[in-house]
Amino acid sequence: MSKEKSKTRYGLHTSVAGGLGEMLKRAQDMGEDAAQIFVKSNRQWNMTELDEKEAEEFWREKKRQDLWVCAHAGYLINVAGEAGIRTKSIRSLADEIRRAEDLGLEAIVVHCGSRGETDPTEARRRAVAGFNEAIEASGTRRIRIALENSAGQGSSLARDMGEWGELIGGLPKKRRAACLDTAHAFAAGFDLRTLEGRTRLRGEMEKKIGLENLLVIHANDSKTDCGSGVDRHEHLGHGKIGGPALQAFLRDPAWRGIPRIGELPPGEREDRENLTFLRRCLPST
Ligand SMILES: [Zn+2]
Ligand SMILES: [Zn+2]
Repeated sequence: MSKEKSKTRYGLHTSVAGGLGEMLKRAQDMGEDAAQIFVKSNRQWNMTELDEKEAEEFWREKKRQDLWVCAHAGYLINVAGEAGIRTKSIRSLADEIRRAEDLGLEAIVVHCGSRGETDPTEARRRAVAGFNEAIEASGTRRIRIALENSAGQGSSLARDMGEWGELIGGLPKKRRAACLDTAHAFAAGFDLRTLEGRTRLRGEMEKKIGLENLLVIHANDSKTDCGSGVDRHEHLGHGKIGGPALQAFLRDPAWRGIPRIGELPPGEREDRENLTFLRRCLPST
């Protein structure tokens, strides 16, 4: 493996307030070599036009900075939902996938959706068909779609590893990927505080997801207890998982080369502390 390939990157979900140029400056100031962004307002359906000049500059500058960037799709998207919301979701996701590819991003992270009252098998079928429709409608050829595991809040899909793996397996081979969120896994019942829990999560990732599909880790601590099924992120080392456990998990050589992104409440001091934490969690080479 080349040195570049084995480099383990880390960063934060980074604001695009003020434009993509400002986002790149923030990432550079903070010393990030990986970051996640929203390509549109995450709580609205509509997307504004992409300024081509801004996109070109972003592409060029990102490369110069050697910054790995993925997108996170809007929170309203639910491809497993009922007819109306599902149709809207597919259209909106297609737009976001296209935008992420136009910006030269590595992947777009998407939630698997919520089944509501729908039978789980039917919800999974809808979700897989919906993701494929969105990829098709986006007209893109390259960008990977990273489905994220859930805490299982409400009736969200992909709390269960087998279910998550089935959804990922339903995407086209070249486009499929996984995003593992540590806070979600903990809330879903993986006790990362114990060696047994960490080993079980790694084992299930290998068996049900495939490490070749793991593209990014969301490194978050959790405000809620193990198994709570409630998704509340906490600053690294300040939550129920805690510093030593998160560090032990992230240092596992199995995750070497996988970018890790913190999704935490922003703040200058907190951002720096979270990045320092992530730097200390890099697997030794
Ligand atoms: Zn997410
Ligand atoms: Zn996440």
